[in-house]
Amino acid sequence: MAKRDKLTQKQKRQVAVKHRQRLKKEKQIPQLSDLSESKTGLLVSRYGEQADVFDLFEQKSYRCYLRQNLGSPVPGDKVRFRLASNEQGIVEAIEERDSVLQRPSQHQGLKPVVANISRIFVVSAPLPDFSAALLDRYLVAVADADIEVVIVFNKWDLSSEIEQQKIEEQLEIYKSLGYLVILVSTKTDLGIEQLKQAALNHKSILVGQSGVGKSSIINRLFPQQTMLVNEVSENSRLGQHTTTASKLFLFEEKTDKTQEIESPYHEFIIDSPGIREFGLWHMDQKTIADGFVEFESFLGTCKFRDCRHENEPGCEIIRAVEAQKISRQRWRNYCKIIST
Ligand code: GDP
Ligand code: ZN
Repeated sequence: MAKRDKLTQKQKRQVAVKHRQRLKKEKQIPQLSDLSESKTGLLVSRYGEQADVFDLFEQKSYRCYLRQNLGSPVPGDKVRFRLASNEQGIVEAIEERDSVLQRPSQHQGLKPVVANISRIFVVSAPLPDFSAALLDRYLVAVADADIEVVIVFNKWDLSSEIEQQKIEEQLEIYKSLGYLVILVSTKTDLGIEQLKQAALNHKSILVGQSGVGKSSIINRLFPQQTMLVNEVSENSRLGQHTTTASKLFLFEEKTDKTQEIESPYHEFIIDSPGIREFGLWHMDQKTIADGFVEFESFLGTCKFRDCRHENEPGCEIIRAVEAQKISRQRWRNYCKIIST
């Protein structure tokens, strides 16, 4: 406050000019009176204060402003929006979410990343290189969202018979933990039909390291390119140039016809760069241990309450590894993840 009092006349004038400019800018946002009736849409991409909303009835997407105090809409959100005469929209409400994937953010606690997803396909491949540790990291990251996970191993055509045997042994571990595992090659179409069946009836995302073949898989699943690309190459407010592309792919076969009439909302896959990298940030030791499903029955039984299950005496997780009740490889990956 003390500083404010010392503003010179010139500074005060500048403040007033800025204030007027801000008001003028706000006026450019469509006013309620000019707007169409409220519509339901699917939020496909978010760019700061704006978002692309897809109207599934019209099969058309609209760039929308976000109403203040709306909360934090993310891809996958079902929203209510209205259109101005220039087709500029305004998002007024986020409908209740069935699920939300969140990630820790530095200042705001947990931050939503994607909503209403019922399946996550975690994609791995022998190239760039198959890392069971990275696969486990993804599994941990999605574990507490309570969303079904399918493990996809792509580029099967690239592995020799010996490699295939080794990989199959590793994947057996995941099958025995209850994960659905699908072997895929986008070059030979191995597993593509199975993948499609697993994605039909669901709202899904694909996650996995860059280069494992996520785009190729989507191209095989949607050969007619029924995709809706939303590209924004400018973020003028921040004066930065960024290219973000978030894509929504709709299945043409609608498995539940009745649903289509009641709600314009059916199966899709969202592919967005922000979501692709999901799982690669820091997680604390407890969250990581919770993400290893086979640890569950042993957690809380170790000698020390703050046991990290690395090398502590009286650790029941380590005892279970020695008794071959928990895969040694999985436990090693756990140790790797908590130490990075
Ligand atoms: P993304 O970064 O996960 O989207 O990966 P891309 O779909 O861009 O694929 C990366 C590279 O892997 C490309 O050169 C693809 O042609 C190749 N690729 C994708 N799937 C397969 C596959 O099943 N077999 C082989 N041999 N190569 C593949
Ligand atoms: Zn322990």
